Amino acid sequence: MTLTASGGGSFAVSSPSRKTQNRAGTSSYISITSFPQRIRELQAANPPVKLIQTLPSGVLENVKKRARAKYLTRAVVSKLVDVKGSPLHKAYWNSWHCSSIIYSHGGKLVSKYCKQRWCVVCSRVRTAQIIKQYLPVFRKWDDKVFVTLTLPNCSAQDLQSTIVRMKSAFDKIRKDLDNAYRRDKTRERLVGLRKLEVTFNPDKESYHPHFHLIMESRAVANTLRERWLGIFQDAIWGAQRVQDADDNSCLELCKYFTKLISSHSKTREIHVEPLDAIFQAVSGQRTMQAFGGLRVEKELSDDEADVLASDIGLDAVYEWHQVAADWINQETGELLTNYQPDTAMRQLVERGITMRPTASTG
Ligand SMILES: [Zn+2]
Repeated sequence: MTLTASGGGSFAVSSPSRKTQNRAGTSSYISITSFPQRIRELQAANPPVKLIQTLPSGVLENVKKRARAKYLTRAVVSKLVDVKGSPLHKAYWNSWHCSSIIYSHGGKLVSKYCKQRWCVVCSRVRTAQIIKQYLPVFRKWDDKVFVTLTLPNCSAQDLQSTIVRMKSAFDKIRKDLDNAYRRDKTRERLVGLRKLEVTFNPDKESYHPHFHLIMESRAVANTLRERWLGIFQDAIWGAQRVQDADDNSCLELCKYFTKLISSHSKTREIHVEPLDAIFQAVSGQRTMQAFGGLRVEKELSDDEADVLASDIGLDAVYEWHQVAADWINQETGELLTNYQPDTAMRQLVERGITMRPTASTG
């Protein structure tokens, strides 16, 4: 499926444009017959169209960031659904619909989310929750460290089994430390937050699963590293790191799983089939896990999470339109955010998403 603005102002739109009726006696509203026509009007407008009903500035900034996330996610998911035979096909479609409709009703902006890890919209929400929960805890740790545990890169075929090996090795080390602590309370437990990340290297077409942790104790982190190297003879010594942690490294850890853009790539590119391989390998697995009495709070209830903003003084339904990169008021044709993708984002979305790395990448 393609979803791009082609030359000459024509559009390839995935869903049929909705005919919108004008309400009687609302002459101040702009008359529209279809979204594509409205978008041509918006693109031709000079000076740019001014929003009639504006959101409060704090809310607007937030919803604009959401528009950016939605714009990128829709573009990536539009390709992910084309990966042949992927068991995640249906889940990708869920993300295609994620927050496609935003209602403002009863003073609140409300939307429905897919809660999938490849969805940038939902990852932003989840990341904010994790930061809120853990950053205050991390700030109380005086000697906290940022730990990286890796294995050599592997193929897509071996990715899932490599992750299983990493998890069971980590669990064994943690249980040993816990048992030692139970026998002798002067020993230290493994206290921290662990994140599983997988990146793709397009030059070598290999996958790099690794753990990042923020840990309370440097001594325990050093023990963890030693035992890790003891279990995995092929793990490279220098790639297992224990570094000082600051607010930035804590925030980095809290970022929820997905890096859609390939690492090591000379150009900013998103490779869809490798992404699908990664998401299949981690499907149904927890990527964020807390240890040693740190608690991972349950996600917010649907009701809480669905509310994007409160005290909004308008009642309307907005529908996402990928070419406009915005939600459009179905009655008035107004844009919700007036988000404008910058050049880098447009290039990434329109030309940077490929099914697999091309020869020119390497
Ligand atoms: Zn989502």
